[in-house]
Amino acid sequence: MINMQKIHVTVLGAGLGGMSAAISLAAHPQFKVTLIEKNEHLGGKLNVLEKDGFSFDLGPSILTMPHIFERLFAMHGKELKDVMTFVPVRPHWRNIFEDGTIIDLAESIDKMTTSDKVSADDLSDLRRFFDYTKHIHDFTDQVYFKNQIETPLQSLKVYPWHRIIKDSDMFKTMDQAVRHHIKNPYLIDIMNYFIKYVGSSPYDAPAVLNVLPYVQWTYDLWYVKDGMFGLSKGLEKLIRSLDIKVMTTTEVKAIEKEGETITGLVLKDDTVIKTDLLVSNMEVIPFYEKISREEPKRIKGIKAKYGPACSGFALHLGVDQPYEILRHHNFFFSNDSKQNFDNIFHNHRLSKDPTIYLVAPMKTDPSQGPKGTEIIKILPHIPVIDKDHPFTDEAYHTYREHVLDKLERMGLHDLRKHIVTEELWVPETIEEMYYSNQGSIYGVISDKQKNLGFKTPKKSPFYQNLYFVGGSVNPGGGMPMVVLSGQQVVEQILRDKRFQGPKS
Ligand SMILES: Cc1cc2nc3c(=O)[nH]c(=O)nc-3n(C[C@H](O)[C@H](O)[C@H](O)COP(=O)(O)OP(=O)(O)OC[C@H]3O[C@@H](n4cnc5c(N)ncnc54)[C@H](O)[C@@H]3O)c2cc1C
Repeated sequence: MINMQKIHVTVLGAGLGGMSAAISLAAHPQFKVTLIEKNEHLGGKLNVLEKDGFSFDLGPSILTMPHIFERLFAMHGKELKDVMTFVPVRPHWRNIFEDGTIIDLAESIDKMTTSDKVSADDLSDLRRFFDYTKHIHDFTDQVYFKNQIETPLQSLKVYPWHRIIKDSDMFKTMDQAVRHHIKNPYLIDIMNYFIKYVGSSPYDAPAVLNVLPYVQWTYDLWYVKDGMFGLSKGLEKLIRSLDIKVMTTTEVKAIEKEGETITGLVLKDDTVIKTDLLVSNMEVIPFYEKISREEPKRIKGIKAKYGPACSGFALHLGVDQPYEILRHHNFFFSNDSKQNFDNIFHNHRLSKDPTIYLVAPMKTDPSQGPKGTEIIKILPHIPVIDKDHPFTDEAYHTYREHVLDKLERMGLHDLRKHIVTEELWVPETIEEMYYSNQGSIYGVISDKQKNLGFKTPKKSPFYQNLYFVGGSVNPGGGMPMVVLSGQQVVEQILRDKRFQGPKS
């Protein structure tokens, strides 16, 4: 232990990754924990806006793997259910296609129904696909979750190479693996769209991402009663009950360092907070560019390998009537999914016919808006910010019209006429609010060629007392994964003798 005194750990950023790290660190008596956040609220992208009687969840809406959140409470002898309630969502998703086909993704394949568009043979294919995803899950469980492997090379230490190739289906993309098992074109689009959870393209992501449907069907899909932001409020309650110093509306602008050791954080008002250890929930690339201000050539390799996942066009609407066609989670598919993904990830274009994710939380929880109304949150994925070729306000406006045209055409009749309130967040809003890399909403992209689905390792190669948590490091983006990263980082820190507590 450093000086027999408590080790001062500063957690920079109170997104779910930072909150999880702070809670996990506080379970070890050798640490004195300070949590610093630039915004007023804790939760980062898990954020809420109260407007005109509606409660809009501005961030995540799809929640899986509840046990990962429960662990944070259990490590302090508490129970999650005492501060929040998880409610299962039924069906998991509704999928709507331009030809009028509607397919509900049920909570298990056995509950899915056949129709003139989905035959019994198609459902058998889906079952075979599910069996295949179990193998993928067993692989990811060993590599990412249990052994916390951070690079492809490290995985050779815990898994024989020939089994890595087979069990991760290494030579296929996510889409190729889906098509290997499924023939029905609607089901192909649906299974491919699980990639939404990590903001990448199924045509570029490795087949190992097919773990996502397995996770959803195994751990179920949840909503947090009274709004997703309740998750952040519940974690905040836990944090406030622990010995953690919380500083909100406090922005970090630089570091102080001696050689390869970070010694302090410089706040916007020039105050310096001394620290023995830093856990950054600010993403890796923005941290190196804006806070530690590395030479561009030093981080060139990291930027090439671990670029940003997509951003989003988050249009929050309050409308004065419910829409019968909607379920809680809905996907309105593009007629050309490949083109849509290529526009987001390769062409830097706003699609005329995007796939649109739409969440209508009042289907499960009518308390989120005035009686007789509906919340319609629309979130098509779009490219991240390209500073050299930014989208203009006019381009975003045209895109909004394409999106509303598509929804009106596909069953949300006269949607525009029923809008009573509206709030739009574009990549620039998201970047400004959370300092994410180019306005990314899920951290680092999953790409077979660039990183085989691995994200940046949590320990910095440049500073011996700097670690990262959140969507830009392993195991990646999405609520359960960033919370897991906050738990895993503490295990990594404790492998360093200097940070271990006294032996009992
Ligand atoms: C619109 C939207 C929809 C999404 N939908 C889903 C979904 O349905 N399901 C799902 O699982 N995930 C979803 N996600 C992704 C999910 O929200 C993220 O993966 C996760 O919340 C990220 O957590 P994090 O801790 O990595 O980062 P963040 O939440 O971004 O937290 C980082 C924190 O660091 C703070 N910070 C940064 N720089 C500084 C600084 N210099 N000084 C002080 N503080 C700083 C930021 O303000 C922020 O609070 C969605 C995200 C968005 C935006």
